[in-house]
Amino acid sequence: MDDHHASIDGVRVDLRHWIGGERIASARTFADVSPIDEQEIARVAAGGATEVDAAVAAARAAFPAWRALPVAERSAILHRVADGIEARLEDLATVETRDNGSLLRSHRRGVMPRVALNFRAFADYAEKQLGHPDLSVRGHRERITYDPAGVVAIITPWNAPLMLATWRIGPALAAGNTVVVKPPEWAPLTASLLADIMHAAGVPAGVFNVVQGTGAEAGTPLTAHPGINRLAFTGSVPTAGVIARAAAPNIVPLSFELGGKSPLLVFADADLELAVGIAVEQFDNAGQVCLKAARMLVHSSIADEFTNRLVERTAQLTQGDPRDEATDQSALIARRHFEQVSGFVDRALADRARALIGGGPNTELGGLYYRPTVLVDVKPGAEILTEEVFGPVVTVETFDDEDDAVARANDTRFGLAATVVTTDRTRAERVSHALNAGTVWVNCFFVRDLEAPFGGNGKSGIGREGGAWSFDFYCDVKNSVFSP
Ligand code: NAD
Repeated sequence: MDDHHASIDGVRVDLRHWIGGERIASARTFADVSPIDEQEIARVAAGGATEVDAAVAAARAAFPAWRALPVAERSAILHRVADGIEARLEDLATVETRDNGSLLRSHRRGVMPRVALNFRAFADYAEKQLGHPDLSVRGHRERITYDPAGVVAIITPWNAPLMLATWRIGPALAAGNTVVVKPPEWAPLTASLLADIMHAAGVPAGVFNVVQGTGAEAGTPLTAHPGINRLAFTGSVPTAGVIARAAAPNIVPLSFELGGKSPLLVFADADLELAVGIAVEQFDNAGQVCLKAARMLVHSSIADEFTNRLVERTAQLTQGDPRDEATDQSALIARRHFEQVSGFVDRALADRARALIGGGPNTELGGLYYRPTVLVDVKPGAEILTEEVFGPVVTVETFDDEDDAVARANDTRFGLAATVVTTDRTRAERVSHALNAGTVWVNCFFVRDLEAPFGGNGKSGIGREGGAWSFDFYCDVKNSVFSP
């Protein structure tokens, strides 16, 4: 392989930016380290203000022609992108797994098919939703149109890099915008494969651009760029604050999908098998999931049985190399993150909490493998109950009455999701109404249609995307009033 390419478990990946339909190198590179074995797997182009300027200029130049295409033509191209993703599903799954350590089997069966759907669904919605019936108001005809906003900047995290990026790229492009993406430096590679797929599908030069680099060096100039019209960010609360300040002078509308500290409420009447099944799912992706229910609140009458069964099921999880189909639990993304997760658990244990299982690294596997951890006897108000850990760690607390359970579930500065397990339908309605969260799941988890709104309350985000909500964000909605 030359300096500009790497072979990632046999898949060739271009390590340069993708700007204006061309591969562009940078003088500097950054190390991409795989969490599986902490090996450097690539040196990726480290972009900065120069590359961001070029990408925004290319996106601006491509905008008029892309926006002028009839919606059906744009949709046809995006369906071809989805075809390309499906055709290269195995390559995408292989590279993402090596890059961020999440399970190959999840990528094959769930994540990458969803990546394709992010294009198909929004291509179809665009055809349906970008037209709005005229209104008739006091004899005047009011025509509502969805004009694409212009250039959309998209900045995404490493925990599900391609899925989270395409969930923004799909609707942004379908609405007629052009895009500049800054992928996460801890998992930058599948964005580059997506550029190849876009090119092969006939997406015109400049419509889709990728600038690789760190948040500080490539992200900062992108968020502060006067040439962008929308900024879609998924990531942490502290970064969101920095980005909001950078974007403020340009008055750029923001869509923020941020962290969470979501509760799982298990009532005395719950189907316990279902509740334990949902609880153990919280260790998926080594707990590095924004929507994860990290705080379990369980009715005291069933708490012992619930925790015993949760510990039993957790003990059955197989930890190891995510490329092995039998693996349930892999490594944490990076050494710095591993230290953070360990620190949270160590401090909780020093502050009276008990680990029923886990509580430390997997010493047999070494590296970045941290054991799935169930903590009980946590002090009220402890850091482990309030801060997002973003690792395979859950707490279990008990409650005696519904009002107390809801109050404690809502006692968070976040508000991303909440899950309720109960067989009482009236309670389900009452509690879901009372919970402060963008998404409430009742007797299920992680199910969501792309047409439904998604987003968080409080520090979990700003705005909603999904279906019509995405087009509201990525478009300048116009009302033209015609006199009788
Ligand atoms: P992060 O905020 O550190 O980084 C996210 C992205 O922002 C990266 O691409 C990074 O390079 C970039 N960035 C960092 N500093 C920047 C700056 N100053 N200017 C511009 N860009 C900058 O987050 P992370 O650690 O990558 O991701 C984990 C976080 O993401 C967690 O809090 C998690 O809950 C959240 N998340 C939220 C959702 C959701 O849908 N709500 C989904 C997944 C992850």
